[in-house]
Amino acid sequence: MSLKFTRRKLATLLSGAGASLAFHGAASSPAHAESEARSAASFPKGFLWGSATASYQTEGAVRDGGRGPSIWDTFSHTNGKVAHGDTGDIADDFFHRYQSDISLMKQMGLKGFRFSVSWSRIQPTGRGQANQAGLDFYKKLADALLAAGIEPFCTLYHWDLPQALQDQRGWENPDTAAAFADYAGLVAGALSDRVRQFMTMNEIRSFVELGYGNGMHAPGLQVGPRRLAQLNHYAVLGHGMAVQSIRALAKKGTEVGIADNVDAVCPVIADETNIAAARSAMREENASFLSVILDGRYSEHYLSRLGADAPHFTEQELKVIASPMDFVGLNIYQPRWVKAADTPTGYEKLKDPASYPHMLSPWLTFGPEALYWAPRLVHENWRVGKLFITENGASSADVVSEDGQVYDTDRTMYLRNYLHALQRTVAEGTPVRGYFVWSLLDNFEWADGYEKRFGITYVDFPTQKRIPKLSAKFFESVVKQNRVM
Ligand code: BGC
Repeated sequence: MSLKFTRRKLATLLSGAGASLAFHGAASSPAHAESEARSAASFPKGFLWGSATASYQTEGAVRDGGRGPSIWDTFSHTNGKVAHGDTGDIADDFFHRYQSDISLMKQMGLKGFRFSVSWSRIQPTGRGQANQAGLDFYKKLADALLAAGIEPFCTLYHWDLPQALQDQRGWENPDTAAAFADYAGLVAGALSDRVRQFMTMNEIRSFVELGYGNGMHAPGLQVGPRRLAQLNHYAVLGHGMAVQSIRALAKKGTEVGIADNVDAVCPVIADETNIAAARSAMREENASFLSVILDGRYSEHYLSRLGADAPHFTEQELKVIASPMDFVGLNIYQPRWVKAADTPTGYEKLKDPASYPHMLSPWLTFGPEALYWAPRLVHENWRVGKLFITENGASSADVVSEDGQVYDTDRTMYLRNYLHALQRTVAEGTPVRGYFVWSLLDNFEWADGYEKRFGITYVDFPTQKRIPKLSAKFFESVVKQNRVM
C-alpha cells in the first residue's frame, strides 16, 4: 500500500469530530507542503479585485433628483413582463445606501467597483442639457469610492434607455447612436477627473437580442431578423461613436473599453484541432459584437448567413465601430462547448445534454473552463493588450440559516473553480488585469425580478439589511491573499 493511499484513507476515516486536527498533522508533512507550494494559485501583484452592479438593478430612487423614466421602468410596470410583478422602484436603495455598501467592499479588501450610470438621471429625455442632480450623484459616488481606496469603473449603458428615445424607435433609430455618443461624452467630461475607466456599453448582444429579438427584456419587442441585424449595427456604431466622443471630451489618460458577453466557446477536448476550431468559433459566434468592433468588418459567413437580412452599412461606419479601445471587458458565465467539424466554419457547437449541471438560473450552466478559454481565445485572436473580467458570478437558492448566516456552498464552489481557471490563464500569460464579481448585492435580476439572487451579499429586501454570504467570505480570503484556495 502506498503512503499516498494510506493518507487519503486516513483522512476519510477521520472525517467527523477530530478530523481537522488530523488534517493539520497531514498538512505539515513535507510531501503535502511541496504539493501545496506547487499549486499555490497566486495572481500577479496588483491584480484588481472588484465587484460589479448596474444602475436599474440596484439604485431604486427612480423619481429622485429629476430622473426621467427608462424603458425598464415602463417594462417592469407592464403586467406580466417581470416575475411577481417586481420593479426596480426601490431595488437595493443603493442611491441612498451607497456609503455603507462601499464600507462592505472596503471590508472585503476590494479595489475596484463597476457601476453604471442611469442615462435618464443625466438626461431625463435622453437629449439636451445635463441634469446637475444626476451628475452630482455619480460624482459623490466616485468620491466615496476613491476615499475608500476603490477605483471606480463606469459603464455608460447597462440597458436602461430613456423612454423618450424608445418613443422614437430606440436602437432602431440611428439618431439613438448619436444621442448615446453625446451623452457618453457629457458624462465622461464631467466625471473623468475622478473616474479613469469607462465602458461604453454592457452586453450589446443581450439588449439587442432579448430587448428586440425575443422580447423577454425591455422594450419587449420582436422585430424580426432584418430589423434586428440593422439595430445591432446601430448599437455597435453607437459604441464606436461613444469611444470617439469620450476621447474628445474626457481628461487625458482616460481609458475606454466595453463590457461584452462574448460567447465563451471552449474546445470539448483541449487538443490542437479542437482549440483551433474554438478560436474560429470565438470570431464567428461574436461576429456582430466584439468581432466587428475589433476587426472593423463583418465576417463573410455572418453576412452570407443573413443574406437579404444583412445590415446596411458604410465603410466609414465600420471605421467608427472599430475605434481603438484601451481594454476589453468580458462578462463570462457559462461555457459553450465546440468541436472541430467538417463545416464551412470548421466547427460545430454542441447542445448540452439535459443532465448538464446549472446554477439556479437554467441558462447558467456550470463550466469553469469558460474563464480559462474565453480570455485566452480573445487574446489569441486579437492580441488585446488589456483584459478585465467585468462580470462573473452565479445565482443560488440562498436562504438565511437559523444562525443568521447564508451558506451558499454552490456559489462558493462555482467561484472557486472559475477563479482557478482564471488563474491558470493569467499564469500562462493572458493579460487579464482584474476581475469583478457579479454581484456585490442581490438585486433586480431583470425579467426574473428578485427571485434569482446573484449577490455575494444577501439583501433582505423588506428591511434592506445586508448579510455577507459564505461566498463573500471566500472572496475576501481570495482578495486578501491574492490567490485561490
Ligand atoms: C448582466 C447583468 C445580469 C447578470 C446575471 C449579465 O448578463 O450584465 O445585468 O444581472 O448577467 O444575469
